[in-house]
Amino acid sequence: MKRHWNTYSDYLAEKYGGRRVYRVSVDAGLSCPNRDALGRGGCAFCDGTGGTAVHLRPQEKDLKESQSLLLKPESDIAAQIDRGLKYIRYRYKAELAMLYFQSWSNTNAPAGRLKKLYDMALERADFVSLIVSTRPDLLSDEVLDLLASYRTDKREVWVEAGLQSADDDTLRRLGRGHDAACFADAAQRIHAHGLKLCTHMMILPCYENLEKSIETIRFINRCASDAVKIHNLCLTRGTRLLDDYKSLGCYPVLSLERFVHTAAVLLAHLDRSVVVERLMSEMTASRLVNPLHFPDKRDVLELVDLYMENRGWQQGCLSDSI
Ligand code: SF4
Repeated sequence: MKRHWNTYSDYLAEKYGGRRVYRVSVDAGLSCPNRDALGRGGCAFCDGTGGTAVHLRPQEKDLKESQSLLLKPESDIAAQIDRGLKYIRYRYKAELAMLYFQSWSNTNAPAGRLKKLYDMALERADFVSLIVSTRPDLLSDEVLDLLASYRTDKREVWVEAGLQSADDDTLRRLGRGHDAACFADAAQRIHAHGLKLCTHMMILPCYENLEKSIETIRFINRCASDAVKIHNLCLTRGTRLLDDYKSLGCYPVLSLERFVHTAAVLLAHLDRSVVVERLMSEMTASRLVNPLHFPDKRDVLELVDLYMENRGWQQGCLSDSI
């Protein structure tokens, strides 16, 4: 179904001529300096699972700290990839696969060690895309040179970088450990290396109003991000943010109506060319404390689509570049 925004599925269908393409997610155990080495305690919303895919977290539990400062053994990572390939081929009849280093900060090691890791992983199949999720302050030119070396005519290389907000005060309150200028610099160098950029942002009613979120979208436009993942705030167990609000007895999350309005407004301000890879977070029930009132993601996206339809909106219709 055609949405009123630039969906990831449309992007993939066009790029790969309608062939079925799916991600294979990897947890290489690279951890995150914002939780570990620098002892900053992590982002206020982070529960110490490092964005690990649900199927790679078989024993869900409250993690007080990240599990590992070191890479997992190569045999473990290779097994994850092989299992993932088997799964997407069986479950989705995948014809093509993308290799996705999803968990933690996947450039959190010396370039030489990363090369060994990426080389080994890319040998397991003919991946059409290498996707590396990380922080903007972990992207040295040496690491970007390495990532650029994996680009071929048949393989794209994407960097997924966390921004969350373009407001430095919000970033400080979140405990992100970097500012907006750091992100802008990383974005410029990612593009200079011929890599694609997907930016993660979060709707943060705890600290920001809608105008602030629109400013983040404008910043993402200025950084010429190729794609975006927009997350609604999910309060999960084991986070500082939850602790802050627990004693107040109320939670800073949007109502469904407010979320639908906010998502539609943000899409209207997002440049038309940016691919929307995600518009809503999904969280396992055992971790989620709030919001609990949202229906199924598919239904929520339907409501956002209808909202835009009713106003005659398309992605980018309110963007500065129109
Ligand atoms: S950068 Fe990611 S893994 Fe690190 S503390 Fe923040 S959310 Fe958690």
